[in-house]
Amino acid sequence: MSPAMRAVVVTRYGGTLEVMDRPIPCPGAGEVLIRVRGSGLCSTDLHLLSGRMLLGDLPRILGHESAGDIVELGEGVTGWKAGDRVTVAVDVVCGRCRHCLTGQTQRCTSMQRIGFERDGGHAGYVAVPAANVVGLPSTLAYDAAAILPDAVACMYHSLIGQGRVGIGQKVLILGVGGLGIHGVQIARMAGAEVIATSRRPERLKIAEQYGAIPLNTATQSLRKLVYDLTGGEGVDVVADTIGTRASVREGLSLLRPGGKLLAIAYLDETFEVDSLPLFKAEQEVIGCRGSSKQDLVEVVRLTGSGRLTPVIGAHYPLEQIETAVRRLERGDLVGRIVLTPE
Ligand SMILES: [Zn+2]
Ligand SMILES: [Zn+2]
Repeated sequence: MSPAMRAVVVTRYGGTLEVMDRPIPCPGAGEVLIRVRGSGLCSTDLHLLSGRMLLGDLPRILGHESAGDIVELGEGVTGWKAGDRVTVAVDVVCGRCRHCLTGQTQRCTSMQRIGFERDGGHAGYVAVPAANVVGLPSTLAYDAAAILPDAVACMYHSLIGQGRVGIGQKVLILGVGGLGIHGVQIARMAGAEVIATSRRPERLKIAEQYGAIPLNTATQSLRKLVYDLTGGEGVDVVADTIGTRASVREGLSLLRPGGKLLAIAYLDETFEVDSLPLFKAEQEVIGCRGSSKQDLVEVVRLTGSGRLTPVIGAHYPLEQIETAVRRLERGDLVGRIVLTPE
């Protein structure tokens, strides 16, 4: 019997997240065992608990973004050693399909995801393929590194990879949650002018600190601001991190001809697109899913050099997962929650 660790586990859909003892995993061939130092809590974790997204066989340990130290190497692993500080790409991919071979690993047709179909990092330890591991510069703290694979790399992939955001463009970011606040920084870094929307003043304040023009949708007219900023033409790119029928409709209505709407949040519902305006203005609606491993490598580098700042709203010990979940549901945080194992 292997020694135990504490872990956040889904035992049945629609229940609560339980913290329980689980055996410390043994790294298989090609895998490394990581001692987890921080693990990002994502609202997707709540969708996984509810059964709205499925995890395969239960019980399952959640946690799809984490950072820590390598403590053990599985058979055949080279290039890493115990003590290396690392973070972990979410998708465990085949490496052979056309998407993997062209670097678009987020589209791999036979992937398993850490914290979804495989056990994740809301635990004392996690075993992952060495191919998923990215080393951390010494300047990068574990909690900051923990939220790079999802909250930060996803926005990098969406804006830079899918949206091709560049110098002088005007970008509208709908929603300043754990994703949007990093989107603001990335779009600014790429040289864009950025409008960021929220109903929460505390979130808008941080968005402004990172260089966005803040707009409170509860009290101000987004349409007027976009009109004034773009001379009535509309923005080049809308990054929709809200994902409702209303947000898509509004985003499309504020795009310039040839503009792109990035659908980053997965939708609860189908959305409607008026075909004639889309046709006439040659606009694009682009799905954005997660990030490639190369996206993660790039955000690790940008964060390590101080050009990107992961925004963490709160830290909770793993044992306090229930409190952390309630805090996430309340929605009063700016940035991500990081769980820390003892
Ligand atoms: Zn997530
Ligand atoms: Zn593949």
